[in-house]
Amino acid sequence: MVQIEETLKKHGLRHTLFRAQILDIFHDSKYALSNNDIESKLENFDRITLYRTLKSFEEKGLIHKISDNNGNLKYAMCEGDCDEGHHHDQHVHFHCEKCDKSFCIDELNVPDVKVPEGYTVVTRDMLLKGVCKECNQS
Ligand SMILES: [Zn+2]
Ligand SMILES: [Zn+2]
Ligand SMILES: [Zn+2]
Repeated sequence: MVQIEETLKKHGLRHTLFRAQILDIFHDSKYALSNNDIESKLENFDRITLYRTLKSFEEKGLIHKISDNNGNLKYAMCEGDCDEGHHHDQHVHFHCEKCDKSFCIDELNVPDVKVPEGYTVVTRDMLLKGVCKECNQS
């Protein structure tokens, strides 16, 4: 819990029980979480508060959004050096077509590509699809 309090403080967020609870859920998860995933881990919660919490976590650089290309939005913890308004997550994302989970592949960076003249790159996303480690083992 001490670590969670520090993480919130570092990102300019006041410590509340709910925020700590949400952060804890992200810490414990090996894969990216959708709204439904998070809701299923909570009892007695207010949807608006959850929505606002996720929004502020994203704005403050605690979590980042992942699209799985099936129209589902998921969130995952940032690697650590993100801060308010600046995300530096350059890693590849992986979507498993078997279990429908999305993963951050932290050790794999999105390759730098040369764009034609006149284009400016703002964000670089890379999504790989296939079968995840766990599904391959079962
Ligand atoms: Zn980030
Ligand atoms: Zn899988
Ligand atoms: Zn990620």
